[in-house]
Amino acid sequence: MINSIKKAKGLKGKRVLLRLDLNAPLKAGKVLDDHRLVIAKESINYLLKKGAKVIAISHLGKAKGSVDKDLSLKPVANRLKIVLKHPVKFIAEHQPEKALLKIEKMKNGEIVLLENLRFNPGELENDSQFAKNLASLADVYVNDAFSVSHRKQASVAAIKRYLDSYAGLFLEKELKALDRILKPKKPFVIIMGGAKVKTKAPLIKKLLPKADQLLLGGALANTFIKELGYEVAKSLCDSDAKEMIKKIFKTKRAEDKIILPIDLVVASTRTGKTRLIRPDEVKKGEAILDIGPETITLFSKYIRKASTLIWNGPMGKFEEEHFRQGSLSLARLVAARSKGIAYGVVGGGETVSVLNMTKMQDYVDFVSGGGGAMLAYLGGEKMPGLDKIVK
Ligand code: ADP
Ligand code: MG
Repeated sequence: MINSIKKAKGLKGKRVLLRLDLNAPLKAGKVLDDHRLVIAKESINYLLKKGAKVIAISHLGKAKGSVDKDLSLKPVANRLKIVLKHPVKFIAEHQPEKALLKIEKMKNGEIVLLENLRFNPGELENDSQFAKNLASLADVYVNDAFSVSHRKQASVAAIKRYLDSYAGLFLEKELKALDRILKPKKPFVIIMGGAKVKTKAPLIKKLLPKADQLLLGGALANTFIKELGYEVAKSLCDSDAKEMIKKIFKTKRAEDKIILPIDLVVASTRTGKTRLIRPDEVKKGEAILDIGPETITLFSKYIRKASTLIWNGPMGKFEEEHFRQGSLSLARLVAARSKGIAYGVVGGGETVSVLNMTKMQDYVDFVSGGGGAMLAYLGGEKMPGLDKIVK
């Protein structure tokens, strides 16, 4: 049972601490992709309409417990105003006790955004005192940041000891969508890529027994290719995932289920010259940056057979135009099969950015707010951000 914010009574005039994921990519002080802000809209509007005072909180980037000017949420607050078509006041304080004075002046139906939570060391340490200070700003707590709910951090975990806690509207939708994947209609095909190999590898191990096929690309595939004994030269890999990959290959039918790229796009890190090659042809000084066309065709054959599809992690370094074809093609393939033939879910910060580039996000059954969190939830991991909210 989900303790939805819809169940909360008497929100008028209440201060609501709303944990969002506004971790948007920034460039030169501008938000590059606002999908996370759009996701946040529903809960914000709901609370504002109820006459609550909304204190929005979020992290941004990999701040490590101290102030980093490049990771200020100010540009995000500016963009959020545009997305909401409603004023958003940015409070340039990361320490809750310093924001209090301004919060006390809030009127019903107003929203403020506090500075990056991760400027506080207590956030990452799930510190009780920090959580208590944060809680003292509000009467009610709402978690609408599914993407960090697998983490034991103060603003999603410890905070719930001190305030009545509810699930935000997007979080609620997210859980309902993912619960359908927990009992997947077969064939169940998982597509995985991206860079966070160390976090993703243990989840692959948990998800593989449920899947009929696991299609791998991105730096994740590079690491597998390396473990199989091939030269990967300058490719992005994770050497810490070695033992885990060995274990994955020992899973029942792993060899049949795991499909690795059969052709790759590489580039020389020195000259930038690109080549299309087989996995055993990577030369010194080259890095694998995308999957090739034959791999796309191969993956598409499995995608076409699937009744349940889940995709997390880009197939290459899609931020650069030359290395985006694999990710764009898969985004289109997944979208084309979803909402009808297959139940299709796409998740992950960067993965959703690629999907949005194709403008096909509406064709997918559900666009998840989380990558790591989505995999953790599906893998049955403990979710510190969900206890007391989901019973
Ligand atoms: P998500 O946020 O969707 O879960 P990750 O955070 O795991 O995905 O990884 C996304 C990043 O992985 C992207 O920035 C992309 O450039 C990078 N990436 C994927 N494949 C490669 C590759 N072959 N070489 C370098 N970077 C890669
Ligand atoms: Mg990411």
